[in-house]
Amino acid sequence: MEISQEDLASFHTALKSSKRILALLGAGLSASSGLPTFRGAGGLWRTHDSISLATPEAFNKNAGLVWQFYNYRRHMALQAQPNPAHYALAELARRMPGFMTLSQNVDGLSQRANHPMKQLQLLHGTLFELRCVDRAVCRYSETNFTDPVVPALEIPTSDLDPTSNEARKEKGNDLDISDVQIPLPALKREDLPTCPKCKTNLLRPGVVWFGESLPFHVLEAAEDFLNHPNDIDIMLVIGTSAKVYPAAGYIEKARERGARVCVINMDETDRPAGGWMDGNWFFRGDAAVLVPKLLEPVIGDIKASE
Ligand SMILES: [Zn+2]
Repeated sequence: MEISQEDLASFHTALKSSKRILALLGAGLSASSGLPTFRGAGGLWRTHDSISLATPEAFNKNAGLVWQFYNYRRHMALQAQPNPAHYALAELARRMPGFMTLSQNVDGLSQRANHPMKQLQLLHGTLFELRCVDRAVCRYSETNFTDPVVPALEIPTSDLDPTSNEARKEKGNDLDISDVQIPLPALKREDLPTCPKCKTNLLRPGVVWFGESLPFHVLEAAEDFLNHPNDIDIMLVIGTSAKVYPAAGYIEKARERGARVCVINMDETDRPAGGWMDGNWFFRGDAAVLVPKLLEPVIGDIKASE
């Protein structure tokens, strides 16, 4: 990986005079933590099998199967560790009140890096929220990192064979749903997590499913940031091609508000929404290496302080 020193210096100069920065995070950041990306939420949803699992209809029809899939994803996410980019962004949030992170990741890694929650908006929800399926009346939700979620969802050790992890790495982190060895014993309803408040309904994962709207309070927080009277200095786009809305719209809107876009990605062909413009930066490579380096003038050397 080669970083242009000229680009790095020009980014550092801009960073040092910045007061308001918006970051958009995607699956590429999780891949730097060794987490299979499921090709991101969007990719996951594109396959027929995934659509059949990531919908409210699937949950109504076979909650046991859907819970097995999400329990597996929670387990994988908990095996992964936040990487230096997660820690660097968390530190930037502590040092710069005008910094906000919008994440498309559901893996809980930003939270585990102690990113201040007020400055972290989860566009697609999180695997580590459980909530009552009855959103209208009961509205119960909780933060929950228990693995397995309930004893009946314990993953057989044969499904966590390290050789299959090796095979997955060779394939470059992308995990197709067909790779997931979901154990298929039919689970009884009483085996699944039940809402402690209404004691009637099941709890479901707090992720945004296909066909569902993004969380209203998250969209509102993003709009508030973008419509703030003060302009935006920099928009960081990390590990995402940001081609889907609302993510793509946030880049366009940030530009309208004066932001210079900085893309950090493994893939050079990933252009930000609206293409490249004068004053944009592109840093190709591993976000876990690049992000701490880029933010160093403000956050210091986070490796040295750990
Ligand atoms: Zn309930």
